Amino acid sequence: MTDLKPIPADWTYAPAPESRDIVTLAAEYGHFVGGEWLTATETYETIAPRDEEPLARVGQATPEEVDAAVQAARDAFLNGWSSLPGSERAKYLFRIARILQERSREFAVLESLNGGKPIKESRDVDLPLAAAHFFYYAGWADKLEYAFPNRRPKPVGVAGQIIPWNFPLLMLSWKIAPALACGNTVVLKPAETTPLTALLFCDVLRQAELPPGVVNIVTGDGRTGAALVEHDGVDKIAFTGSTDVGKAIQRRLAGTGKKLTLELGGKAANVVFDDCALDQAVEGIVNGIYFNQGHVCCAGSRLFVQESIAEPLIEKLKQRLTTLRVGDPLDKNTDVGAINSRMQLEKIEELVAAGQEEGAEIYQPPCNLPEKGYWFAPTVFTNVAQSYRIAQEEIFGPVLSVLTFRTPEEAVEKANNTPYGLSAGVWTEKGSRILWMAQRLRAGVVWANTFNRFDPTSPFGGYKESGFGREGGLHGLEPYCTFDDSETFGG
Ligand code: NAP
Ligand code: MG
Repeated sequence: MTDLKPIPADWTYAPAPESRDIVTLAAEYGHFVGGEWLTATETYETIAPRDEEPLARVGQATPEEVDAAVQAARDAFLNGWSSLPGSERAKYLFRIARILQERSREFAVLESLNGGKPIKESRDVDLPLAAAHFFYYAGWADKLEYAFPNRRPKPVGVAGQIIPWNFPLLMLSWKIAPALACGNTVVLKPAETTPLTALLFCDVLRQAELPPGVVNIVTGDGRTGAALVEHDGVDKIAFTGSTDVGKAIQRRLAGTGKKLTLELGGKAANVVFDDCALDQAVEGIVNGIYFNQGHVCCAGSRLFVQESIAEPLIEKLKQRLTTLRVGDPLDKNTDVGAINSRMQLEKIEELVAAGQEEGAEIYQPPCNLPEKGYWFAPTVFTNVAQSYRIAQEEIFGPVLSVLTFRTPEEAVEKANNTPYGLSAGVWTEKGSRILWMAQRLRAGVVWANTFNRFDPTSPFGGYKESGFGREGGLHGLEPYCTFDDSETFGG
């Protein structure tokens, strides 16, 4: 409990820190293999990005440890899990979903502590969506023949899953829920900087009495990920992360017969027409790029504004930025938390410096950034040319590049002028224009008069360098199934 303080005369917010007492951390974690904790041969320290406080030591899995996890997954696959009726698999998934709901505060606090995101986001977005994902795929587990009529879906086998640090538990859910629903077993590697909620999730699996080996978690950096990709005993790789690593994985798997889905980076266009509801659009722009410090693959990082409203819109946007509260991720009033790692902070700083050098105009609202930890102020660039690095490259931070257009045709051309194609947004009052734009934007998801909305029933994934394969919805089942079609038709 903090002491109650009088309301300040200027009506600023008093601190409202979420208590972290609900989280109990071990000093050291091993790998979760075959339902047991395997002591790690090598370990590293995982920290809180808000103040660099050491939180725990976690394992850096060696190829031998990865091998043990794949073996455990294979055993579990062969000895029961893959032949279990779908209705029985569903029971485990429903249990996991309910336990996540019950323990959501504990998970939310740990997610914010280890990853730096504001507690109101982990509490109101990550955790409810993670549970919803398990609920949704639990519902499919005994209905696969309806998902794929006349096709006889079968599980693929052992899935190797590699996830990033921006939505640690949510990405785990996106990966594990459909895999289990379809009868596969899993070896998952969380990102190096955010292993703790995945490790806590092992306790959920224990509570749910999931058979040993169905889900195995090995922690470590890219070397552990590479060992998982290389392993002959893995039948499918599901990867979310950077385009460079995604390309390397695709090269590595070419010709091996392993199935692959890639969910990579993005540089989404958020297109605002002059007939939009301006204040609503400003909220959508802010949510599009400053949500989760901009560590979002589908972030609306390129804003295209119709020229006639550029001036008032930018004015309103800057005004709105002054009201964003940047600070302690565990404070319930915080809008923008800590940058996930020093490495990511340096990358953001480098690209922002490039933007200034190339001639863009920078705006940052006045804010007091904490001295310790990794922080970056919400940033807007105007006077941006299409050729600038800040308009081309994924920054993965709270940095928005504003460009303008005159006609819808020009908006489409500029929006599609990117190697990526993950998401886009359109702001206009005209329904016909929304449909016209949605047909022409090369993006896996197009939001209309909203942004960054997620739902387990809706497929998510990219075009071009944003990857291939879909997660969520009916589409999200397919990568975890094989079909008898080839046998039936002699193909
Ligand atoms: P990353 O290096 O691609 O990381 C994604 C996952 O792959 C992590 O678990 C990572 O481990 C692992 N990994 C790294 N090298 C690997 C390899 N050779 N083989 C197999 N797995 C490997 O991306 P990042 O380091 O998290 O961030 C770098 C950039 O990726 C960001 O700046 C952003 O542009 C992009 N990104 C995109 C998304 C998205 O959702 N699409 C999410 C996060 C990041 P480590 O944790 O040790 O790296
Ligand atoms: Mg990396």
